[in-house]
Amino acid sequence: MADTQTLAPAPAPTGDARPAPERFAEQYVPRFVDKWDALIDWDRRKASEADFFVERLRAAGARRVLDVAAGTGFHSVALIEAGFEVVAVDGSAAMLEQARANAARRGHTLEAIHADWRELGTKVTGTFDAVVCLGSSFPHLFDAGDRRHVLGEFAARIAPGGLLMLDHRNFDAIRAHRYKSSGNFYYCGTGAKVSVDHADETLCRFRYDFADRETYTLEVYPVLENEMRGLLEDAGFEAVETFGDFKRVFDIYATDFVIHVARRP
Ligand code: SAM
Repeated sequence: MADTQTLAPAPAPTGDARPAPERFAEQYVPRFVDKWDALIDWDRRKASEADFFVERLRAAGARRVLDVAAGTGFHSVALIEAGFEVVAVDGSAAMLEQARANAARRGHTLEAIHADWRELGTKVTGTFDAVVCLGSSFPHLFDAGDRRHVLGEFAARIAPGGLLMLDHRNFDAIRAHRYKSSGNFYYCGTGAKVSVDHADETLCRFRYDFADRETYTLEVYPVLENEMRGLLEDAGFEAVETFGDFKRVFDIYATDFVIHVARRP
C-alpha cells in the first residue's frame, strides 16, 4: 500500500471545501520537504531555466532581490551564486530550514525570514530591486482578496522601476484537462511522478508519487494566464510580459509553466 499523506481536505461535492488560507504551510510536512530537492533536481532545473531570471535581473540593473517563496532555496542560492544580494522569505519553517542547510552546504549564509506574504511588511522592511515568487507558489492563495492584498505587499517591497517575476503552472491547460507535463521544467527529478488528481475552476490538487511509494498532495488555486496578468495590472504593475516555459512565443496547450515579468512604475 502506498503511504498517502492527505494533508489537505478532499473537496466536498459542492466544491466549497478547500484549505483555509493559512493552511498552505501544513501541506509542506517535513517528510515532503525532505523530498522536495529530489523532486526538482537542482542541476536539471538550473539547465532548463538557462539563466532566464538572472538575465532579466541583470538587464534591469538589479542588485538586491527578495525571494518570497524560497522553498528549499533553489533560486535564492542560484541568485547568490550569480552575484545578487538575496533575502529569502517563506511561510513554511520546514522549507526555510532546508533552504538554510542547502545554502550552507554550498558555502553561503542565507538571510532567511519566516513570514506569511499577507503580513510581509511587518517582517521585511525596505525595498529591493526585484521580488521573485517562483515555483508556482502564488496559487497557494485561495482567497481573491488575499491575491490582491499580497500583490500590494510585493509591490511595496519593490523600488520604483524594479521587477516582479512570478510564475504558475499552466492552469489554462489543466482546467481544460489538456495538460501533460513534459517533465523538463521546474520538477525535473525522475524519482517522482506528479499528476493532477482534481481540477476545476476553484481547486487544483496535485499528487506526488515518490519511488519509495510515499504519496503527498498539494492543493492550490488554479489561476489562469490572463487572470494573473489582470491581477498584476490591477496592482499597478506595468510592462507585464508573459512567457511559456521561458519562451516569449508559446502554445498555451503545450506549456508546463507560465512566467510573468512585470515592472513597478
Ligand atoms: N520556490 C520554491 C521552488 O520553486 O522550489 C518553492 C515552491 S513551493 C511550490 C511553494 C512555496 O511557497 C512553499 O515553500 C510555501 O511555504 C510558500 N508559500 C505559499 N504560500 C505562502 C504564503 N502565504 N506566505 C509565505 N510563503 C508561502
